[in-house]
Amino acid sequence: MKKSVLYSITLSIIFSLFACTSSVKKSDTSPEIKNIILLIGDGMGLANVSAALTVSSEPLNFERFNFIGFSRTQSLTDYITDSAAGGIALSSGVKTKNGVLGQNTSGNNFRSILELAEDNGLSTGIVSTSSVTHATPASFISHNNSRYNYEEIALDFLKTDIDIFIGGGIDHFFNRSDGLNLWDSLIARGYEVDTTLDAVLSSSASKIAGLTASVHNPYQSKGRGDMLSKSSEKAIDILSKNPAGFFLMIEGSQIDWGGHANDQLNTIQETLDFDKAIGKALDFAEKDGHTLVIVTADHETGGISITGGNEELHSVELTFSTKGHTGIMVPVYAFGPGAENFGGIYENTSIFDKMKKLLGL
Ligand code: MG
Ligand code: ZN
Repeated sequence: MKKSVLYSITLSIIFSLFACTSSVKKSDTSPEIKNIILLIGDGMGLANVSAALTVSSEPLNFERFNFIGFSRTQSLTDYITDSAAGGIALSSGVKTKNGVLGQNTSGNNFRSILELAEDNGLSTGIVSTSSVTHATPASFISHNNSRYNYEEIALDFLKTDIDIFIGGGIDHFFNRSDGLNLWDSLIARGYEVDTTLDAVLSSSASKIAGLTASVHNPYQSKGRGDMLSKSSEKAIDILSKNPAGFFLMIEGSQIDWGGHANDQLNTIQETLDFDKAIGKALDFAEKDGHTLVIVTADHETGGISITGGNEELHSVELTFSTKGHTGIMVPVYAFGPGAENFGGIYENTSIFDKMKKLLGL
């Protein structure tokens, strides 16, 4: 009798110890990943980030990441990718032809990480400074044989359950060449439609179509203000109400345009503005503990070198080698649970593969 009581006490101690250590282990070493915030600096190479670090008198949010890797950006057909093939590689894990969105060379559609997240009950969102119909955001939502079919791409937004999208593109939704006005269709699908940033920011709706410019928002230096970081914060606020989790893509679209224009001021300014949006994502992820933040680019633009600079004066001198994109690897920064998977050198498509696996989709 005594022996069997002692035996059962010993057993229960062993079991409770086991239960205790296993639960501690789980939360300490691999907290569940519920949310992913993917930030894409269109055309952002290492020179943009280096220049921004020198120009800024404050530390940048780029410095808060502890896992950094490199992504190879070549497309299926071209050594130098465009933003559609680059976007699709990141959104859908497929190397495809330049210019095409969400379709393989036979014209068959494949699903993006945003669509897979929707299928699995996660909330989803897109924020960009360009029109939301432009190649990078469209890569997450559209299936079209040309990135330039902006009005058809706008229609693709109505085929999804995306919870919030903020960017330019009023003309592609409400001022279309085919005479269609998508306002009522958006309302019918449960969206509050807002056409100013103030309306978006003061909204209490849970589903928002926020179109803040007729096509693209202006450069940050030309009056866009804090549209990107404020929109990012708003999107995080809305999406994080879903206990099942969320996927959010935030694009600093116009770093690329500064590169194409060989415009030193704007390519750096847009990178600094993008850094503020990164800060909003990291602040949320630090508090939340279940959010993975990934920052990368679809490709580099401008072939930028830093050919001079002064640390005390916070100044740099950039030299551009092209008006187009280049084939150099781009950095990938990761923070939060699962971030350790993003060290090393890999193809752009494997960023999708890693996200899909980590979200369990
Ligand atoms: Mg873009
Ligand atoms: Zn470009």
